[in-house]
Amino acid sequence: MPAQKPKTTPRGGIDLGGTKIQAAVVGARGKVVGEAREPTPTAGGPLAVTEAVALAMQLATSAAGIKPDALTAIGVGSPGNVDERAGTVAQARNVSGWDGAFPLAAKLSEALGTRVVLGNDVSVATKAEFDLGAGKPYRSLLGVFWGTGVGGGLILDGRPWVGRAAAGEIGHMVVRIGGRLCGCGRRGCLEAYAGRASMEAKARRLVDQGEHTALFEIMQKRGRTRLTSGVWERALQQGDKVAQRLIDQAVEALGAGIASADNLLDVEAVIIGGGLGTKLGEPYVERIREAMMPHLFVDDRPPELHLSTLGDLGGAIGAALVAKTRKS
Ligand SMILES: [Zn+2]
Repeated sequence: MPAQKPKTTPRGGIDLGGTKIQAAVVGARGKVVGEAREPTPTAGGPLAVTEAVALAMQLATSAAGIKPDALTAIGVGSPGNVDERAGTVAQARNVSGWDGAFPLAAKLSEALGTRVVLGNDVSVATKAEFDLGAGKPYRSLLGVFWGTGVGGGLILDGRPWVGRAAAGEIGHMVVRIGGRLCGCGRRGCLEAYAGRASMEAKARRLVDQGEHTALFEIMQKRGRTRLTSGVWERALQQGDKVAQRLIDQAVEALGAGIASADNLLDVEAVIIGGGLGTKLGEPYVERIREAMMPHLFVDDRPPELHLSTLGDLGGAIGAALVAKTRKS
């Protein structure tokens, strides 16, 4: 009698963001069979974050009808400096109180009873779009994740390109020399105009200067402490002038930054994802395409622009893919 083919065992994926932790249980062909979301703790440093990540994964596995230790492995897409071999994360800037190297893989493995591997959040999300999402038809692509910051991931000639570990930082391409101050301490970066954190800081300065905007009222009404993507979307729907102006500047900056990256790399496609990208959707992908055109050197065959098809779950699915391909 032929041996029965082993059933694919599910893997876990975690997208660790500055605002939320998205957990997913991923089965055959990248199908999500359980998911859960928890807010990222704003106090308590890496230990509190580890606990919240473990909780999110427990909830996701229970939604899938299994226990965490039944997962073959768990992948975590993390911000900051990720040392994949050591299983540590340092300087996760958007996560409060996380500076030194923290052994995230070992701590999570202890809490959840299975193997844990780490990857860079943006790289794993780009790989997920390449393998399973909007990037499937292409051999080269640039993933642009428009959210709290602006992250970039690259696939060149069918393979992820990470440079010496720090490639893809499209958010820190200079779109205006001597321009707006960026969270990284430099000036004129794309992220200083298009990152949600920078846009919020700019909106607060405009309010201090006496301008009126509904942004912060919408934020309070929704019980939020930050200008989330949903808050921006609502303000735009209401025709809020400050929100429109800041978003217009973000789109202009994205157009210039992405076009510059494409002038260098000549990729087949650009995939737009991230919290704001996903929330604002197709009309804004079209606007970014238009904003790119004046800056493209070879403008008779621009790269294809697509909205991410995995959306909010892309990071977690990508992290689960990392758990599949990496042994340690
Ligand atoms: Zn910067």
